[in-house]
Amino acid sequence: MSIAQRWQTLHQTLAAQGVTLVAVSKTKPVSDLVEAYDTGCRDFGENYVQELVDKAQNMDSDIRWHFIGHLQRNKVKYIAPFVHLIHGVDTLSLLAEIEKQAAKIDRPIQVLLQVYIATEESKFGMDEAEVEQALASLGQYPHVVVRGLMGMASFSQDQTLLGHEFGYLKGLFDRSKGVAGPLFDTLSMGMSGDYALAIAHGSNMVRIGSAIFGARG
Ligand SMILES: *Cc1c(COP(=O)(O)O)cnc(C)c1O
Repeated sequence: MSIAQRWQTLHQTLAAQGVTLVAVSKTKPVSDLVEAYDTGCRDFGENYVQELVDKAQNMDSDIRWHFIGHLQRNKVKYIAPFVHLIHGVDTLSLLAEIEKQAAKIDRPIQVLLQVYIATEESKFGMDEAEVEQALASLGQYPHVVVRGLMGMASFSQDQTLLGHEFGYLKGLFDRSKGVAGPLFDTLSMGMSGDYALAIAHGSNMVRIGSAIFGARG
């Protein structure tokens, strides 16, 4: 199957379930993104600021660019003018920097708080107390719209473990809704290897790369 066919098949299946498909195009050439774009894809996910800026300059402006990587504070300014959704907000200081840059250009910026759900040490994210703290202080960030939560499960085939991690994040998402308000509606969890399980546990946004664009070199 081609990139176009893989995107279309996935998109149709997921759209029928009310799930937004973010096509993760990191490290892939613009020609691959264009193939997906021409089939109808408008949600692309990138991990690296410079790569995202370069691709955005070379593609149509109706694309919704999702920044899904680990964002350094000193790079927020480069994506602030155009990014659609920043998935990986993992500290209050990053939230404060996004507020600063958003205020400077008077553009509301949508974000997800990244929650640490995996067993591995290396993954970024807030714990439950930090999420609560962020949601309790939203008044300090009037230019930031917190749309929901994002999480990455363990790098494992253990369905019980993954189900537990996704279920935990869904629970936290539901509990947070009351505090965060009506715009808090997005739960980003699930990648190529685990998206079906993530959706079964309540995900409504999946970030899929290799299952669309092929393995990364
Ligand atoms: C690379 C990446 C993905 C996509 O991974 P695949 O396994 O290729 O689908 C999803 N989310 C994040 C945060 C990533 O870094």
